[in-house]
Order: sequence, then structure tokens, then C-alpha cells
Amino acid sequence: MNALGERIARLIAAQGPISVAQFMTIALHDPQAGYYATHDPIGAGGDFITAPEVSQTFGELLGLWCVECWRQQGSPPNPLLVELGPGRGTLMADALRAASVDREFIDNVDVVLIEASPALRAIQAEMLKPFVAVPVRWLDRFDETLEKQPLFLLANEFFDALPIRQYIFTPTGWCERMVTLDDNDALVFATAPFAQPGLHTPTSRKTPRIGDIYEICLPGTALMEEIAFAIARNGGAALIVDYGYDQSGFGETLQAVAGHRFATILERPGEADISAHVDFSALCTVARQAGCDPRGPVAQNAFLAELGIAPRAAKLAGQNPSAKKAIYEGVLRLLDPAQMGTLFKALAIMPPHLPTPPAF
Ligand code: SAH
Repeated sequence: MNALGERIARLIAAQGPISVAQFMTIALHDPQAGYYATHDPIGAGGDFITAPEVSQTFGELLGLWCVECWRQQGSPPNPLLVELGPGRGTLMADALRAASVDREFIDNVDVVLIEASPALRAIQAEMLKPFVAVPVRWLDRFDETLEKQPLFLLANEFFDALPIRQYIFTPTGWCERMVTLDDNDALVFATAPFAQPGLHTPTSRKTPRIGDIYEICLPGTALMEEIAFAIARNGGAALIVDYGYDQSGFGETLQAVAGHRFATILERPGEADISAHVDFSALCTVARQAGCDPRGPVAQNAFLAELGIAPRAAKLAGQNPSAKKAIYEGVLRLLDPAQMGTLFKALAIMPPHLPTPPAF
């Protein structure tokens, strides 16, 4: 066990078992030893690779998608372009470069980056240096300052990093899965001895069987509610791209990844990225309750194809023939169903009573 694991063990010894969500929060965000506080996770030298790092076309098409939604809504003044968890800042840089085709948009937009990690904020600032004329600011979290202007919001692989709670179906009902200590003081999962009162699974899901696992992401649904509330009131659009599922079954999706490989979850907290699949139907439900019109989710490959990734890749390859192979390999990785093409999905959150946004 590492030093952070020992601290978590002392916490459990002192106050009892902790939830999976609390474990995730500490492992990812502990200020001294948490994963995001101590790592630059993304890219060949990191632990995982994300779509904007695979191909510049990804950020470009998402940027153009925002501009198109803004135009569809009559080019409202003072649009905000917000990104949740911008990583290395690559997506936003590519999006702004592509969005610069619309001078009116780029001259009016305010960019807000919501980022927990100081190390990643520094990398993002460096990446956005070419866009001197665009005002950029950082926030720790989505707050009420974002609820006054039309909100165009992008989030790629952000919701999967938010802490989940897990419940196991037992003969007495849904019991929470906890993290506790075994006889050797190692961290282990255990099932709470009592059922969680008042926990009901959505009617869209099948009838649970003993041993089924139900995951909920309270920070994710709470955040979606705030975003949808702002969009319903002030206009805008949100585009959530992530790996996840649509509805129906039960199952455990919590996973740890280090050095581009799956890792154990409890053994070395803070040293691996921990994430869970996104429950898109839960996000749609709260968005609808907050007055928005959710569209999708659609598979990432269909979404990008519809936005014109193929002609864009051909144009880039034509401009830079020596990079042709790498350009097409990147695009294939985003589209191939065996790679990122269908596991990843795009969900749009729109104000009510508007035309369908591009690619939905
Ligand atoms: N969107 C980027 C990075 C994905 S990794 C890309 O596609 O490459 C997840 C990102 O979310 C990181 O930037 C991480 O630091 C940030 N993050 C994770 N949890 C967060 C939280 N609770 N608040 C703010 N940022 C968070």
C-alpha cells in the first residue's frame, strides 16, 4: 500500500467504512497525492489518450458545432464557451481555431475553463496563448456566474471522472458497496449490512437480480441540472462526449487505468486514473426536468461522420502529405467500432422548441 492508501486506511479505522464515491474523490483529488493533483495523465507518456489528442479534427468539429448552434439561435450576443475538464487544452485550442471562421462569434465569445488540477491549468494557458484576443478565465467548478449568458458547453471525458456510488442488490434490497479494511488492514470492498432506504432504480431498467450492481453519479446529475437550467433560461447548447451506456441493464463499470493498462482500484490510490461509464439516460432525465431538450446520445463515429470528419481529414492530408498516414490513423481510431467509435457517445442538451442541432 502507498502513503495515500495508508492515510485512507487510518480514516476508515477512525470513522468506519467509506463510500466508493468518497474513495474516488480522495484518490483523484487529494491535494498532496491525488491522481489529478500529481499527474499529467493524458498522452503517450501519461496513462490514457483522449480524442482531441488523437486527432485535431475532433476539437475542430466540436468548435464548429458550437458556432453552428449559436447561429441557429440567431447569433445571440455575449456567448460563453465553457469546457469542463479541458485536460491539456488541445480540444479548446482546436475548437477556437476552427471557430475563428466566424469573426462575429470569435470576437464576442468569453472562454471559461473548469479545471481542478493546477498543473493542467498551466498547460492549458500555454496551449491557448495564440488566442490573445479571446478572454479566457478558469473556475474550480460550474457556478452561477455562468448562468447569465448564452452557454455553449463542451465536455469530453469529464463526466466519467466524477465520483459514483455503487449499490448491490441483495435479498433485503439495495445495499451500498463500501471500502473498508480486511484483517491485514488492506483496503477491500464490502457490502453494507443494511439496505439503503428509499433507493429505487428507474423504471426503464430491467428487474434486478441478486448480485446486480447499480451505479449512480450524484455530482454528474447535479451538474447536468445546473447546465440545463442555464441553457433553458439563456439559450445555448451543451455537448457531452464520453464512454457510457444508454439505459437498461445493471453492471459494474468502475475502472482504474495506469500506463495505458487496466490497474487494480484499491491497491495504489492516486497512482491510477479511476473512472466509470456515464449513465446517459440519467443525464437526459435531469436535463428534461430542468426544461431542456436532450438529443441523442449518438455513437461518436456517426456524430463525427455527419459533421464531416472525412473531408476534413482529406483536406489536412492534402496540405501535409508526409503526415497523411498519421492523420488517417487518428481519424480511424475515433471512428472504428473496435476502438473509440461506438463506446463513445455524444449527447446534446438544447433549449426547448429548436431545430435539431447538427449531427443529431
Ligand atoms: N477533456 C480532456 C481531458 C479529460 S481528463 C481531453 O479530452 O483530453 C479529465 C479532466 O477533467 C482533467 O482535465 C481533470 O483534471 C478534470 N477534472 C476531473 N475531475 C474534475 C472536477 N471535479 N472538477 C474540475 N475538473 C476536473
